[in-house]
Amino acid sequence: MSERVDQELSRRRGFLQWMAASTCGLIGSSTLADANSAETTQANEGYPKNPEEALKKLLDGNKRFAEGKSLAEHRDISRVREVASGQKPFAAFLGCADSRVPIEIVFDQGFGDLFVTRIAGYVSSSENIGSLEFGTQVLGAKVLFVLGHTDCGAVTATMKGGEVPGQISGLFQYIRPAVKTANGDLNKAISDNVRNQATILAEASTVISKLIQRKELIVVGGIYNLKTGLESVVDIPIN
Ligand SMILES: [Zn+2]
Repeated sequence: MSERVDQELSRRRGFLQWMAASTCGLIGSSTLADANSAETTQANEGYPKNPEEALKKLLDGNKRFAEGKSLAEHRDISRVREVASGQKPFAAFLGCADSRVPIEIVFDQGFGDLFVTRIAGYVSSSENIGSLEFGTQVLGAKVLFVLGHTDCGAVTATMKGGEVPGQISGLFQYIRPAVKTANGDLNKAISDNVRNQATILAEASTVISKLIQRKELIVVGGIYNLKTGLESVVDIPIN
């Protein structure tokens, strides 16, 4: 295990009690159960057994990417065919729509690995919460990752206020609490926004909070650095 991964996992162990093994699924509805049929069809090689392994897999992938050593696995047509009949992503993401933060690439993952929702300012709107409930409870993702990034335009625009075209200002309501606590510090606003959105996810969704209570899911936060390609930790005090 690399030193960086070791350090980050250690920080998170302070408030996490890892379960020995994790099961995915747990669905009452047969329709939803069908959506998880990939469990029997998608190859399980390298699939994380628990949230700790899932997080390590992500951090290892980001380290490879930032060092220019991406494996770029699961990105060919054979993988496309392998997962065509169903999906079993090991992690779910709430990330920004920014074109410079393509989640699968910066964590060195491929088709079928990550369940990704992206929206400017990585905000927890009700539609995103619903999507992430599907990715976690139904599809079995073991990590729910809220990923902000440096120089986020949505957070910057919220700080500046003023006129913006169309419905862009509809995003601001979600970001304003972080702007208020940041006192003009953009980097603090970005990290506070990660923490706020993660907290909303856990508190607004009984589905997600139950998965956390059962230690089947961890919610983690991070900030992707546009210049280095590395993700850094934002502690989320809800696991
Ligand atoms: Zn952004």
